[in-house]
Amino acid sequence: MEFLPFTRPAIDEDTIASVSAVLRSGWLTTGPKCKELEVALSARAGGRPVRLVNSATAALEFALRIAGVKEGDEVITTSLTWVASANVVLTVGATPVFVDIDPATRLIDLDQVEKAITARTRAIIPVDLAGLPVDRDRLYQLAQLHGLRVIEDAAQSQGANWQGRELGSFGDLVAFSFHPNKNMTTGEGGCLVLNDETEARLFEKLRLQGVTRAPDGTYDCDVLGGKANLTDIAAAIGLGQLPHLDALNARRRELARWYFKRLAGVDVGLPPADFSQSNWHMFQIVLPEALAAQRSALIQLLKEAGIGSGVHYPAIHTTSLYRQLGWKAGDLPQTESIAARILTLPLFPQMQDSDIDRVCTALIHALEQIQA
Ligand SMILES: *Cc1c(COP(=O)(O)O)cnc(C)c1O
Repeated sequence: MEFLPFTRPAIDEDTIASVSAVLRSGWLTTGPKCKELEVALSARAGGRPVRLVNSATAALEFALRIAGVKEGDEVITTSLTWVASANVVLTVGATPVFVDIDPATRLIDLDQVEKAITARTRAIIPVDLAGLPVDRDRLYQLAQLHGLRVIEDAAQSQGANWQGRELGSFGDLVAFSFHPNKNMTTGEGGCLVLNDETEARLFEKLRLQGVTRAPDGTYDCDVLGGKANLTDIAAAIGLGQLPHLDALNARRRELARWYFKRLAGVDVGLPPADFSQSNWHMFQIVLPEALAAQRSALIQLLKEAGIGSGVHYPAIHTTSLYRQLGWKAGDLPQTESIAARILTLPLFPQMQDSDIDRVCTALIHALEQIQA
């Protein structure tokens, strides 16, 4: 039987044709396709300015710079996320402050955020793990009360909404990723939703060497920028993806529902059954505590049954770099407990209901085997 990966991008023939057209056009780097995609993304974001970059990591880093986050500042975030969420804080010279998660949602615990706010806190980076949105009402209430910037790491939550309002269409700075594993891809890429044209112009400088071009062909460089512009080749992929985002997310939602049916009664922790707000970027189960030590054996058994799975994520604060910075096991008990037991099962729009059946049959069998 064919190997079922935990995810796979959905690229159609029209998209492949449009990439070929860009390759034939003679203009490969940032150009009309990037502009077109920025306009389309801005329309989805309720008209707010959107600018593209070559990764969400770059979008988050520039967002921190735009928010004025610098050395000596603290930024509160979660440890149960891709390392990029915290690495960008170090990149701008600030200090990431991890707070624990709510084990029910696996998202940053906003009560803990409130307790962690100090005179040095400048920003919060919430992460919508698996596409489940962090409570935006409570988040922005806290931010406003304490005068903090919010840099939403919405890398996984494109097309998700908070109480009917699409993420990116409101709030402070919002970063999306177009990595191939995300719900919409450009091969690699990302974007930032900004508050106004002043921020957008600064972002444009930060993504390309800090340069502003003049009509006479000269330019000025007045800020240290990087090299993070997106290509038109990548933007063409995004233009092929975006019109299908809602349908692709709807299919993910259906498949997630099917998982809930098939896993009812199985002794694993399921994600919150949110079928209205989440974009179901991932379907993640949590093993019972007694089986924590057997997770890698379970992954191996699934692999032998032709099924891919993944660990999203090892807790950032327990990785070597962050331990060198003073973090240690025991600092965030809920995060560590979930990180040790979480497992991502296959979920992508081209899957059939029968693929879910196959995953669940293999999972149930593998759970029996590791308990035997
Ligand atoms: C994917 C991801 C990122 C980084 O996105 P890139 O486009 O790969 O830089 C950041 N945060 C989270 C939560 C992610 O899932």
